[in-house]
Amino acid sequence: MTFASLGLIDPLLRTLEALDYSTPTPVQTEAIPAVLKGRDLLAAAQTGTGKTAGFALPLLQKLTMEGAQVASNSVRALVLVPTRELAEQVQQSIQQYGQNLPLRSYAVYGGVSINPQMLKLRKGIDLLVATPGRLLDLYRQNAVRFDQLQALVLDEADRMLDLGFAKELDELFCALPKKRQTLLFSATFSDAVRQMAGELLRNPLSIEV
Ligand code: AMP
Repeated sequence: MTFASLGLIDPLLRTLEALDYSTPTPVQTEAIPAVLKGRDLLAAAQTGTGKTAGFALPLLQKLTMEGAQVASNSVRALVLVPTRELAEQVQQSIQQYGQNLPLRSYAVYGGVSINPQMLKLRKGIDLLVATPGRLLDLYRQNAVRFDQLQALVLDEADRMLDLGFAKELDELFCALPKKRQTLLFSATFSDAVRQMAGELLRNPLSIEV
């Protein structure tokens, strides 16, 4: 199996070669073609499986191919994560994978000043990584708009619920367009994660690695 056979475009293949990623991991082999086709995803995957590239590569490709200009304060794809450390880590990976693409990505999280984040969002962001609490603050202050949003990723959904983000998540979900692609990644599947998946996903492809 190769990344080229999964349908990735040249600028991404060049980046993967430069990063020395020679073979897709199992989660990438399943996720990349499905996400490129627009399918929802329910993935049981731990850290270390290559799940970040599994959702980031196809989303970066779709955002590039569609080429739409992102409007002021708008976001075209959103990745929700439980902690600021993970937000930084995922954003760094996305930055790396998208280095040959004309896209803007950025991470917002709590525990740091909100003003620079508000300024940065003004130009619009193609792919935003966010923790739920800070994103909700930004949304309430009209610093971020979701009308252009076409894809939502929940990364480590179980940890977001464990950390008590259920209310923030529900409020955010209400603000998102109904017509969108949704990908849910979780290491474990409690009743609460299953219920959230049932509410958010439409005919998802299930992946277990
Ligand atoms: P993740 O599970 O997304 O946190 O990724 C775990 C680690 O595997 C990260 O350090 C990635 O850079 C690396 N990685 C992801 N996909 C591949 C791949 N196909 N080949 C080699 N390394 C990879």
